[in-house]
Amino acid sequence: MSPSEPGPDPDASLVAEIERLRRRLDRERSARREAERIAEDATRSSIEDPLTGLANRTLLAANLENELARAARYDRDVALFYLDLDRFKLINDTYGHDAGDELLRGVADALRATMRASDTIGRLGGDEFMVIVSDIGEPDALRLAGRIADAVESITPESTGGIGCRASIGVAMLRGRTDLDPADFVRQADTAMYAAKQAGAEVRLFDDDLLTESDEKRDLRRALPHAISDDELVVHHQPIVDLTSHRVIGFEALTRWRQPDGSLLMPDIFIPTAEESGLIGDVGELVARKAAQDLVAWQRRHHDTDAIVAINASPRELDRPGYAHRVTLAAEEAGLHPDKLIVEVTETAIMEAGQVAEDNLRALRSVGIRVALDDFGTGFSSINRLRSNAFDVLKIDRSFVANVADRSDDRAVITAIVALAGIFDVKVVAEGIETEAQLDAVTELGCHAAQGRLFAMAAPIDEVAGPLDFV
Ligand code: C2E
Ligand code: MG
Ligand code: MG
Repeated sequence: MSPSEPGPDPDASLVAEIERLRRRLDRERSARREAERIAEDATRSSIEDPLTGLANRTLLAANLENELARAARYDRDVALFYLDLDRFKLINDTYGHDAGDELLRGVADALRATMRASDTIGRLGGDEFMVIVSDIGEPDALRLAGRIADAVESITPESTGGIGCRASIGVAMLRGRTDLDPADFVRQADTAMYAAKQAGAEVRLFDDDLLTESDEKRDLRRALPHAISDDELVVHHQPIVDLTSHRVIGFEALTRWRQPDGSLLMPDIFIPTAEESGLIGDVGELVARKAAQDLVAWQRRHHDTDAIVAINASPRELDRPGYAHRVTLAAEEAGLHPDKLIVEVTETAIMEAGQVAEDNLRALRSVGIRVALDDFGTGFSSINRLRSNAFDVLKIDRSFVANVADRSDDRAVITAIVALAGIFDVKVVAEGIETEAQLDAVTELGCHAAQGRLFAMAAPIDEVAGPLDFV
C-alpha cells in the first residue's frame, strides 16, 4: 500500500465534529435567548403601559399593596397622586390621536423626570396617571404635586403647535392607617383630583370634607364617558300636540341612558353629573344629532315635513363657544331644515347667560333655529328678556299645570303668561298634561300646544304617535 494514499485525517474530522457541535450549541443558545426575550416581553406587556412604558393598572395595584404593607411595618407615610389632564379630549379631537399620544408620552417623561426611581409611576388609562411615593410627609407631597403640575404644563408637543394642557392632581396621604383598603386609598386620591378640577385648582389634598361626593355619583361620573363612546345614550321623543287641531306638531327629544340590565336611567339623575364633569357638551351634541335624524325619519314615514323637534340645552352647553354651530351642523347633516329645530333653554340658563351664551342664542336664531324658554315660571327671567325678542316659545312648567283645574292662582299665572306671550308674539306650550281636566283648562286659557302623559310619554321614534293619532 502506497504511503501516499491518505486515510481520513483524524484531526480534520475532529475539527468538523467540534464545529458541528459549536453550531448546535449556538443554535440552542439563540433559541433559549429568544424564548427568554419572548417571556420577558410577555411579562413586560402584562405590567407595562405600551404607549408610555409606565406601570399599568396591574403593576400599580401590586406596588400599592406592597407599599401599604411596608408602610405599616416601618411606620412610614405614603402619598398617592391621582392625575388627570384637563382639555385632553379637546386636544385629541382637534389635533388627532397621534398628537394626543405625543402629549401622553410627554407627560410620562415629565413624571419620570420629576420623580425618584423608587416611586411607582403609572398610567391608569386615557389621560389618567397615578404616582405612589413612600416615605414622604404631607408638605413635601404637596410641593412635589405642584412640581408635577408645573412640569406637565410646560410640555409643548410639536404636533399641536405647542399647545399643551394642565393637570389636576389629587393627593391622598396614608397617615399611618393600617386598615385602609388600597381601593379606598385610590378613591380618596380620585375624589381629591375631581375636587381640584372642579375648583380649577392644580392640586388638592384629600380630606374628609370631600367625602360629600356619594359613591353613586362617582360611579356615574366614571361610567359616563363610556356611555358616550359605547353609544349607551338613547333619545326618546314626547309628542307635542296642537291644542286647536290636536295634531302632533312635533316632539321633545329627551335623553335616557341604557343600563347593562336594559333599564333606562333618567336624565335628572345623570345630566347634573354630565354638567359637573364637563361631558355635557358631548351629550348635547349626540342628542342633537340623533334627534335630528329621528325627526327626519318620522317626517318621511308620515309625509309630514312641518314637524319640529325640540332639544334641551343646559347652561353649561350654551356657555361653550361653537354650540350654535355644532347644533346647526347636526341638523344639516341629518338633512333637517333648521327652522324645524327648537332649542329649549331654562330660565336659569338665561339669567346666568354670559357673552358666549348670548352669542350662541343669536347665532341659533340667525340660521332659523328657534329658541324656547323651558320650565317657564320657575326661574326669574325678567320681562325685559322677553321684550328683547330673544324667544319664540314659552313652555309653562308642569308645576303650574298640575293644579290648574282647581287652583285659581295657578289659572291666573297661566292667564298672565299667555297674555305676555301674546304681547311678544311667542307661542305657549303647556307641559305635563296628565288629565282631561288639565287639558281643558290649558286649552281654555289660550295655550297653543301641550305635551304630557295624557297624550304620550317619551318613546323611541319608531314607537311614537303619528300626526293624527290624537285628533
Ligand atoms: P324638561 O325639558 O322640562 O322635560 C320634560 C320632562 O317632563 C321630561 O322628563 C318628561 O318625561 C317629563 N314629563 C312629560 N310629560 C309628563 C307628565 O305628564 N307628567 C310628568 N310628571 N312628567 C312628564 P325627563 O325625560 O325625565 O327629563 C327631565 C329633564 O332632564 C328635562 O326636563 C330636561 O331639563 C333634562 N333633559 C332631558 N334630556 C336632556 C338632554 O338631552 N340635554 C339636557 N341638557 N337636558 C336634558
Ligand atoms: Mg325641555
Ligand atoms: Mg320643561
